[in-house]
Amino acid sequence: MQPMRIADLARNSGPTLSFEFFPPADESGSETLFESIAALDPLHPSFVSVTHGAGGSSRDRTRAVVQRIRTSTPLCVLPHLTCVGQSCAEIDRVVADYATQGVESILCLRGDRPANGTATEAEPKGEFRFAAELVARVRATHPSLEVGVAGYPEGHPETPNTLLQMEHLKAKVDAGADFVISQLFFDNRAFLDWRDRCRLAGVTQPLIAGIMPITSVAGLRRMAQLAAGTRFPAPLLRSVARAGVDPDAVRRVGIHWASEQCRDLLDHGVEGLHFYTLNRSDATRRVFESLGIASSASLRG
Ligand SMILES: Cc1cc2nc3c(=O)[nH]c(=O)nc-3n(C[C@H](O)[C@H](O)[C@H](O)COP(=O)(O)OP(=O)(O)OC[C@H]3O[C@@H](n4cnc5c(N)ncnc54)[C@H](O)[C@@H]3O)c2cc1C
Repeated sequence: MQPMRIADLARNSGPTLSFEFFPPADESGSETLFESIAALDPLHPSFVSVTHGAGGSSRDRTRAVVQRIRTSTPLCVLPHLTCVGQSCAEIDRVVADYATQGVESILCLRGDRPANGTATEAEPKGEFRFAAELVARVRATHPSLEVGVAGYPEGHPETPNTLLQMEHLKAKVDAGADFVISQLFFDNRAFLDWRDRCRLAGVTQPLIAGIMPITSVAGLRRMAQLAAGTRFPAPLLRSVARAGVDPDAVRRVGIHWASEQCRDLLDHGVEGLHFYTLNRSDATRRVFESLGIASSASLRG
């Protein structure tokens, strides 16, 4: 069988549709995750991705979830891999393990440094400092693996200079990245402007848009913390405020906003839509219902 190349899919028969999951901490979380995967399967995602935590046990959970999805479903899986605080030998072992399992693509990330950590404190001397170095390592050790990286339409908190930030993204694609998945955003203008700036900078790889439907006020606050720098447009915040204390109304607002974002991105020829699902299926399914899309094949219509 030909390997599944996400970049080729996005370029030649996109837009791709993908769902991001995190490795659950316990058995009940695992049940929820696999119920969500089953509920989203009829949408025929191009791939699903599994996040990778900074701690040791959480890293093992990523590998276990990747393996279970691969053996129990027909889905293509994109494991995330972070390099912060990991030795080169550890990284080589994980990548070799994925390659042996038959994984074809990996999302190469630096990961967040521990609070107050600096480059020299967080990593053993001489090991990875930035994602570009991880990309280069995976390319060198496993040239046949496809590599994705993260992009930040609204900038990354550590690099307020957007020109410099673009140079850092370019360094990742020059090191061999095949596609880019964006941080979540709520203002499409930010994504479309970033896409233009990527093309001007010579980043020609597919740019997959990160979408997260808001499902609660608490979730919105958490997102504001996790994706620091993300702007929340005033019309979105006004709608959430109008929904007040009614959780169903807040949810409807979030789903409506994400649906409108997706419709507009599709109209603007987006190469892929990547949903941050938080291991739940309902909001994502409702977005697709409201778009009138029954499966990823209809995205191409
Ligand atoms: C799609 C997506 C998936 C993610 N998945 C995970 C996950 O599974 N697990 C997890 O822990 N985190 C995840 N993250 C969060 C990510 O790890 C953090 O945002 C992290 O702070 C940066 O990772 P990066 O790969 O973008 O790093 P990099 O590309 O290395 O960039 C990190 C910062 O360093 C700067 N920089 C890069 N190169 C240089 C240089 N040569 N000199 C100076 N500065 C430089 C960049 O501008 C940026 O500010 C994800 C983010 C996205 C968008």
